[in-house]
Amino acid sequence: EAKHAGRGRLRYFDQAMSRHASDRYELLDALKAAIERKQFFLEYQPQVDVDGQLRGVEALARWRHPTRGMIRPDLFIAAAEQSGWMGPLGLLLLELACTDLQACRGSGTCIPYVSVNISPKQLADPSFVSVLCNVVERHGLTSRDVELEVTEGSLMDAATSEDAVRRLAALGFRIAIDDFGTGYSSLSRLHRLPVHKLKIDRAFVGQLEGDRVGTSIVESILALADRLGLKTVAEGVETREQSLWLKEAGCTLIQGYYYARPMARERLIDWIQDRRFARGDDAPAPVWSET
Ligand code: C2E
Ligand code: MG
Ligand code: MG
Ligand code: MG
Repeated sequence: EAKHAGRGRLRYFDQAMSRHASDRYELLDALKAAIERKQFFLEYQPQVDVDGQLRGVEALARWRHPTRGMIRPDLFIAAAEQSGWMGPLGLLLLELACTDLQACRGSGTCIPYVSVNISPKQLADPSFVSVLCNVVERHGLTSRDVELEVTEGSLMDAATSEDAVRRLAALGFRIAIDDFGTGYSSLSRLHRLPVHKLKIDRAFVGQLEGDRVGTSIVESILALADRLGLKTVAEGVETREQSLWLKEAGCTLIQGYYYARPMARERLIDWIQDRRFARGDDAPAPVWSET
């Protein structure tokens, strides 16, 4: 039932973006109105270290559509990028991430950082660095509180993006390369950039149980990160076997359904407070059904 509804929405948005101009306008109008009405919120997914300690959370955007229900980001981020509304939407999401981080800390919940996904258009915008600094400061946070996830592709796209990454790193923001291994960044460029983390795409993590090839790719990324002095985050870790393998192989952080699904702010606070982050405690949190 829920799955069916999800597929229906997917079809609606896919077709709207590709088919008739009228459908396209309808979607883009809805997106514009949603930004104005602030129908977006963030869910947070924990990143834990090899001891099971919470190190940070990734912020993942959701659109609460008044009639179509919750819409996932792969459906609206691309539309926002294409329509030119990624700027305002990205700003709104940054504000939410900072507000939520402060609220969590205000309730006594220790979250070292929030990791925010930055789209290629945002990063290429020459005003991005100053806009980001302004938001972070206005919320009483520093560059250490906010990590930035950028894709390999966005670094290849524009010289302004590479420049932005240098300036951001100089200001103390940590930079993670998202979905690493799926793009085509040159290793020499990677080496020249002040990047801190590689996020191993979940497609590779999902192949760990299978053949030697999947395992070899993850091993290569971990070895590369080690050589370059970068930390690693494995995405989409769903099983105990994957988690144990990754720890053994030296992966720095683990993120995935095995530990926790993305959660709205209140649930995240409960999750952190319920859970014992005792050293060596590897027990996953209770599994909640997806809402
Ligand atoms: P991503 O940044 O690579 O985020 C990881 C995606 O994997 C998330 O999907 C997350 O819910 C999902 N995931 C996490 N653990 C597991 C697992 O164990 N198994 C499986 N099957 N999936 C897992 P989500 O939330 O649908 O986000 C999809 C993509 O949308 C993100 O990929 C990111 O590229 C983009 N996105 C999300 N939020 C934002 C945002 O605020 N701004 C921008 N520009 N892009 C965003
Ligand atoms: Mg990400
Ligand atoms: Mg990713
Ligand atoms: Mg991914």
